[in-house]
Amino acid sequence: MASHKAEALLVSSPASVRYLTGYTGSNGLVLITPLESYFFTDPRYATDAQANIDCKVHICRKGLFEEAAAVVKRKHLKRIGFEPSWMQVEPFEKLKTKLGTGIKLVPVSGVVENLRAVKSPAEIARIRAAVSANSEAFRKTLSRVKPGVREMDVAAELDFQMRMLGAEKPAFETIVASGARTALPHAHPTSKKIEAGELLLIDMGATLDGYTSDMTRMAHLGAPSKRTIALYKAVLAAQLAGIAAVKPGVPVSRVDAAAREVLKRHELDKAFVHSTGHGLGLEIHEGPRIAKKEKTKLRAGMVITIEPGAYIEGFGGVRIEDTVLVTETGCEILTPTSKQLIEI
Ligand code: ZN
Ligand code: ZN
Repeated sequence: MASHKAEALLVSSPASVRYLTGYTGSNGLVLITPLESYFFTDPRYATDAQANIDCKVHICRKGLFEEAAAVVKRKHLKRIGFEPSWMQVEPFEKLKTKLGTGIKLVPVSGVVENLRAVKSPAEIARIRAAVSANSEAFRKTLSRVKPGVREMDVAAELDFQMRMLGAEKPAFETIVASGARTALPHAHPTSKKIEAGELLLIDMGATLDGYTSDMTRMAHLGAPSKRTIALYKAVLAAQLAGIAAVKPGVPVSRVDAAAREVLKRHELDKAFVHSTGHGLGLEIHEGPRIAKKEKTKLRAGMVITIEPGAYIEGFGGVRIEDTVLVTETGCEILTPTSKQLIEI
């Protein structure tokens, strides 16, 4: 905040509001000043907020931004930071009008996100719980996969099992793709039946106690062809190389390069069409992005995914993904599920 010369910061990103206050509802706003923090919500959350939130709680009958503007004026604050990625045009205009002249709104990116990138032991424990529900749901569902089952049935079963294991929801729309559809990196599950002789890609995550997990595994119905095995082995080698590069102080671009170089040796670099991974926590995608041009250095306590893939149109694709914790000496793979190509 000081580097932006901002006297206060308005936080409107739901995940950052939750991170700062513990508030899990859908209408919260935080105003942080050097001396005090204010929390704004509507009357639906009054009881909960007043009992559980350590900030000065304002229950707003009108808009949250209007009430925040009133506090800003009362405290004679002159430069207010806001999160440009999370500020919508309408509330922004209202806020500007309410503040009037003499008070400046300055975009301040990534302040809370940077704090969130390094997880506390309590947060890591929650991610471990999400990872564990995820892997256990996968194990339970896999025994029900057989030729003739639809992709959407498998996705529904995975979601059901995650919830039965304590997750409040899937961390994102569960991806189940079979056959040539595995070449679509973000395939939505369809009514397509999974057939014998096909590859099966499952990319899933659980949100448990607010925290997420992310895992991709591959199965094959029947014995895989030589070409499929070769593709799988190449992606697995790339994923292991990516993991081997994870250590505090290493730029994330190096982790990305480690995975990419292996695929290049197999002439599959052009088939790897996305970045190597992403941070996760309260959100399924948060900092740092593990990508080619990113300069962030890894720090102990970051939780990231390593998920290279190779996609061949008309044939199929392979992606292998783990949730990984950066430790003081390297990393710990949190995902316990085996990475052998599963034969069903
Ligand atoms: Zn994933
Ligand atoms: Zn992912």
